[in-house]
Amino acid sequence: MKVYNFSAGPAMLPKEVMEQAQDEFCNFRGTGCGVMELSHRGSQFMEVIQGAEQNVRELMGVSDDYAVLFLQGGASMQFAMLPMNLMAPGGFAEYADTGVWSSKAIKEAKLFGEVKEIASSKATNYDRIPVIRHWKPEAGASYMHITSNNTIAGTQYHAFPPLDNGTPLIADMSSDIMSRVINMNDFGMIYAGAQKNLGPSGVTLVIIRKDLAERCPATVPTMLRYSTHIKEESMFNTPPTFSVYILKLVTDWIKGKGGIAGIEEINDTKSEVLYEVINASSFYNNPVYPESRSRMNVVFRLPSEELEAKFLKEAAAEGMTGLKGHRLVGGIRASIYNAMPLSGVEALVDFMNEFEKKNG
Ligand SMILES: *Cc1c(COP(=O)(O)O)cnc(C)c1O
Repeated sequence: MKVYNFSAGPAMLPKEVMEQAQDEFCNFRGTGCGVMELSHRGSQFMEVIQGAEQNVRELMGVSDDYAVLFLQGGASMQFAMLPMNLMAPGGFAEYADTGVWSSKAIKEAKLFGEVKEIASSKATNYDRIPVIRHWKPEAGASYMHITSNNTIAGTQYHAFPPLDNGTPLIADMSSDIMSRVINMNDFGMIYAGAQKNLGPSGVTLVIIRKDLAERCPATVPTMLRYSTHIKEESMFNTPPTFSVYILKLVTDWIKGKGGIAGIEEINDTKSEVLYEVINASSFYNNPVYPESRSRMNVVFRLPSEELEAKFLKEAAAEGMTGLKGHRLVGGIRASIYNAMPLSGVEALVDFMNEFEKKNG
């Protein structure tokens, strides 16, 4: 049976990438070794990591003013590493609270300075992206932080107005990186755990304007300084070689799809197909404001929890897995990252229409 995996993360990878990794698993390009058995400083692996960086630079239009880093510790480590490095001593940073992940980022930042919460949709259960007052950070803010896509609530920023007073905009893009075209120059830094849109868990992509990394206080340990990893080109210690290798294959695959613009077009179609069915139905209900809806994580409810349980069970029997909503919010969540083909979304909407007919 063909399985479509709608898991929120770790998420499905492109079939072509899985097959290529399988082909090369025991014998990476004639070396007689698997890629994870190679020295990270050997020429074969160096080619992989440099190729991955090159792909990221090409796909996202990253200029030489920025460093591309492959770190460990997940996006969760960045919640702390960011304020540790960039918060001015005695300073403050602005954060928008749009859900579970931004709250976690705020909690860590408070360990290093003052957090000014500039906007929050908490009072309405994170059902929207709150209005951020004119995207005008207060003078003296070390940076402004947002979560571009809220994996659990199913909301997403649809635009990033450039900040007008030079304050760096910093985004956790874990669940929508490379899903749509952005202007990297509008950001001071972005970061993303790879396991949603870029590869397996274990590697975290950080793209940071090099001058910002210079701010780091002297008390920050070597391993936790961006400047260390910039200087050593992500080779200060052993990087997660296999995860970087898969990220390289995934970014090759994106290039083959017409780059991020090409992927974005497919992502638009996928989410439109799914939202159309939800909008046309009174059986399925998406609690999110239409203008804040995510194109990556589509959340919806059925009339009762019993029906939701039945929906999940029957969907799984037809090969559609990973549809259970996050344990904090319940309901159904279809994660339709880059690797999910349109055919998977079409199979899901066919199933949804059938299910509604039988149970509606
Ligand atoms: C999954 C996720 C995280 C957590 O990522 P880890 O790599 O597990 O630390 C953080 N932020 C967002 C938006 C996420 O979707």
